Amino acid sequence: MIKQSFIGLAKPRIEYEVLDAEQPEPRLIPASKKVTLLLEKSHIRNDSILFNIGDKVKTGQKLSYSTDPDTYVIASVTGTISSISTFEGDYGKSYTAISIDVDENEEFDHQFAELAANPTLDTARNFLCGMPGSPSFKAFSETDAPIHTIIICGVDRDLLITTNQYAVKTHIKAIKSGIEILKQITGVDNILMAVPRHLMQEAIAGGTQVRVVASEYPATLPHLMMQSLLDQVVPAGKSCEELGVCFLSAEAVAAFGKAFEESRIPVTKILTFVNKNRDKSMISVRIGTPISEILKAYDVTLHAKERLILGGPLTGSAVYSEDYPVQADTDAIIVQDSESVALVSDYPCINCGDCIRICPANIPINMLVRLLEAGHYEEAADQYDLYSCIECGLCSFVCVSKMPVFHYIKLAKYELGRMHAAEAMDA
Ligand code: SF4
Ligand code: SF4
Repeated sequence: MIKQSFIGLAKPRIEYEVLDAEQPEPRLIPASKKVTLLLEKSHIRNDSILFNIGDKVKTGQKLSYSTDPDTYVIASVTGTISSISTFEGDYGKSYTAISIDVDENEEFDHQFAELAANPTLDTARNFLCGMPGSPSFKAFSETDAPIHTIIICGVDRDLLITTNQYAVKTHIKAIKSGIEILKQITGVDNILMAVPRHLMQEAIAGGTQVRVVASEYPATLPHLMMQSLLDQVVPAGKSCEELGVCFLSAEAVAAFGKAFEESRIPVTKILTFVNKNRDKSMISVRIGTPISEILKAYDVTLHAKERLILGGPLTGSAVYSEDYPVQADTDAIIVQDSESVALVSDYPCINCGDCIRICPANIPINMLVRLLEAGHYEEAADQYDLYSCIECGLCSFVCVSKMPVFHYIKLAKYELGRMHAAEAMDA
């Protein structure tokens, strides 16, 4: 069975979206009566949650496990916890889903506010990882590979999305303030802002070094920016952090600056909504809001065989429920009508080589995909460079057999990561 790929939404020339010169304010999606926060399962065995059904929570309150303070979510509303359940996300990723019935009167938690006057890395690590853009501050505490460079992405990772361009254009003052605090708490002076050419002038006001990134996909993926901006190749299996470079989105740095300026943790996400007729708009929505509320605001009804994609057209994933919540790193929601939908094919690889020609990492994908289809992940990593993949999704885009190559790769990496983590815990 072959269906048309959702990649069909993208233009044939694979160029990033350019933010409109007169970009209107994002449309505000009205508050939902219930939000759901997805708390990643703790990596510590037998860890227990620090909250219960019936507990009152305030906006900005941290919800976490008893012994794993690094794994947490921030309540995006004030209300009462009405359910706690296990939730299976992409590729078998496990979460604790926390639903909160929203109160009419909003109250703000004071824990972060009490620490905000004196910014520290600990405060950032303990309270700000659940902000829009999902910044991670963990890498700054690693002593094996100290971070020496921060790259702020004023570019977006996938097509159709303009969240980070919007942050540079409209929140440069908050970004500037975020950069100053980042320098102060991390001790890292080498901070670059990567932007598309049309945002050069706006970015200069951020008070840091500005670099232009090419407009053609996949130039904005971190591994490729390491090459184009720092002339550094990331070896297979290594992360940019292990080479001392940390990437943060412009949206996250703006939220970071705002958090310390206002002594309040931002809980509203900016994202791109693409309707069935391919109309695009930017929206502003509380983290945890079910997608159904966004569909309601746009008067969209999903019919049989229509589909929702979270993320951009090349690297996003399909979700199968309108109740799925907006998360801190959700940059786009795409609604596909039945004519645009397609992902799966049961045609085999015909060895055409199109994927190999387009792969920026020069991976022998035609060989790799055979092992991945059979679930031989270790062999795929050992023999065919699985870990060199930079996750651009271009192989799925060009595959004439419409094989979900990119999804096989993501699943394999996730499964291997799980296996290696379990082995490390048992050692
Ligand atoms: S997603 Fe596909 S095309 Fe992109 S780097 Fe990985 S294997 Fe190559
Ligand atoms: S593009 Fe698809 S069919 Fe062609 S070699 Fe790659 S995986 Fe096989």
